Amino acid sequence: MRVFNFSAGPSMLPLPALEKAAAEMTDCNGTGQSVMEMSHRSKDYKPIIEKTEALFRELMSIPDNYKVLFVQGGASLQFAMVPLNLAAGALPGAVEGKKALYVDTGIWSKKAADEALKYANVNIAASSKDKTYTYIPTPPPIPPQNGDGEYAYYHITLNNTIVGTHWAELPSAATVGKVPLVTDASSCILSEPLDVSRFGIIYAGAQKNLGPAGVCVVIIRDDLIGNVPEWIPAMLRYDTYAKEGSMYNTPPCYGIYMIGLVLDWVKQQGGVEAVGKKNHEKAGLLYDYLDNSKMFMNPVVKKDRSLMNVVFVPRETDEEKKKDIETRFVAEAKAEGLVNLSGHRLVGGMRASIYNAMPMEGVKKLIAFMEKFEGK
Ligand SMILES: *Cc1c(COP(=O)(O)O)cnc(C)c1O
Repeated sequence: MRVFNFSAGPSMLPLPALEKAAAEMTDCNGTGQSVMEMSHRSKDYKPIIEKTEALFRELMSIPDNYKVLFVQGGASLQFAMVPLNLAAGALPGAVEGKKALYVDTGIWSKKAADEALKYANVNIAASSKDKTYTYIPTPPPIPPQNGDGEYAYYHITLNNTIVGTHWAELPSAATVGKVPLVTDASSCILSEPLDVSRFGIIYAGAQKNLGPAGVCVVIIRDDLIGNVPEWIPAMLRYDTYAKEGSMYNTPPCYGIYMIGLVLDWVKQQGGVEAVGKKNHEKAGLLYDYLDNSKMFMNPVVKKDRSLMNVVFVPRETDEEKKKDIETRFVAEAKAEGLVNLSGHRLVGGMRASIYNAMPMEGVKKLIAFMEKFEGK
């Protein structure tokens, strides 16, 4: 029996995509081979990577002056690649690096900023650390006297997977000026429509909303590619990937194929708009339940709540009783086929990650379980 998996990542994938992959496991498209066995440069594989890219472009309405790159190393490697490509100096080290702005909205944004410190001159534009990251701060506009060109880029984490917050509205054009906006969209890519033209770079590790771990999708505006110091390794330069169609070396072939099957499913659902509508309904049901619950609550400011990661904690304030409720909740839910509901190891509590592939049925079953648990 398949369970409803509320893991933050790797997470549930659409069943039709998994079933198609299973059917093609040993013989894909009459080639007599698994996708895993194909040469990445063969005429059999080429249409697979091309299809995945074309579907990204179609579903996200990506303008022609952007490249779609498939990179390994996860979102965490992008924490380094972004500063290395956009802000690194002529010699290694942060002293030579350009200035970059980061909005600090939680653990992943902090990790991104800390990595960038090694190559760039990092400035924190705003932070919500004062209230344990339970809201999205409003960053002040870049002072006009600083002019364009002073900052190499402006980094935000679009959806904060661990604390369950989300930028419902992007920082305004007046706030960021002409500085390229760069975002980590690992846990919300394709969850609702997004205006790609507002960004210089959008990157997302695949294992939340796109496919298996091992691929990171990078959507990058052409003018940000290629102006890189000599010392940056080939595999860490965006132009290496852009020039070679993500095939400078062997790409994560199977992961790219799986993403293609997941994107087929998104398209069948009616595209990102339809999927977004469903995501709003799913998250709405859960937050409504939590707001009316006597046992649990969601600590995030309403307008900044994530559509994808719904965190909740017992209202109980006694630490020992609280721990007991959490332990029993997670164990009893698991027995009913609702798995991976523990919060992130660093923040505790509970978290239901409800990415695109989580059906409405799973959310309803979780709410019914919570009502029953609360009743006891
Ligand atoms: C999961 C996650 C990451 C880490 O992704 P890796 O692919 O494991 O490096 C980074 N940022 C966000 C927002 C995430 O949700």
